[in-house]
Amino acid sequence: MHSPDTLPDLLRGVGMTSQRTRDRMVARLAHQGIEDARVLSVMAAEPRHLFLDEALAHRAYEDTSLPIGLGQTLSQPWMVARMTELVLRESPRRVLEIGTGSGYQTLILARLVPELYSLERINALHHRAASRLRLLKAANARLRLADGGHGWPEAAPFEVILLTACAGELPEALLAQLADGGVMILPLADANGKQWLTRVRRQGDQHEVQRLEKVRFVPLLQGVIR
Ligand code: SAH
Repeated sequence: MHSPDTLPDLLRGVGMTSQRTRDRMVARLAHQGIEDARVLSVMAAEPRHLFLDEALAHRAYEDTSLPIGLGQTLSQPWMVARMTELVLRESPRRVLEIGTGSGYQTLILARLVPELYSLERINALHHRAASRLRLLKAANARLRLADGGHGWPEAAPFEVILLTACAGELPEALLAQLADGGVMILPLADANGKQWLTRVRRQGDQHEVQRLEKVRFVPLLQGVIR
């Protein structure tokens, strides 16, 4: 693989990071059941390879999760597409993401919802994601270094809160920041440690919990690492 040397080349990608490779990823996603054309078109357009270290960039469009350092992972394309589809079903104005990580899911969401807020607890990841999102001019994405378990009270309520790390129980502080009728989408572990993608809808004081499919995420942890 020869390395691209200008910024436009870098953004567009070459070889294993080219438009053709991205189109193949999106065709695979459609084949796997992703139906929302908005999700497919944004994922076809955005440079997932920029969210990985150079040494891994050539694998960016494989259907796999990949390491982003500090023990964390960039979710596989299918998972990002599926969660984005679930978010868009709510036609939200304001969305909170917990677990910015590489910032790739953040970017995809920012292209599709008016206001995106995202929290990350690891400083190095937060900074890397922030500079990528600046480069890609995702001005409607607001990032903050913080323990996501406390949410973003000044910006609440949110029509959707999305977690990209697995919780052991429903995070109370986050439920309180949901708009009435809003949903939280999160990986939630059961008593056996199995993880389920879960959708929680707030209706007044009630919360309706719906278990979707089995998933695999890194754990939601407490505190901030500077
Ligand atoms: N959506 C990201 C997923 C990264 S993995 C991507 O595709 O790149 C999950 C991320 O959640 C990690 O970066 C981890 O540091 C972060 N995380 C875990 N617990 C957290 C918490 N309490 N608050 C904020 N971020 C958290």
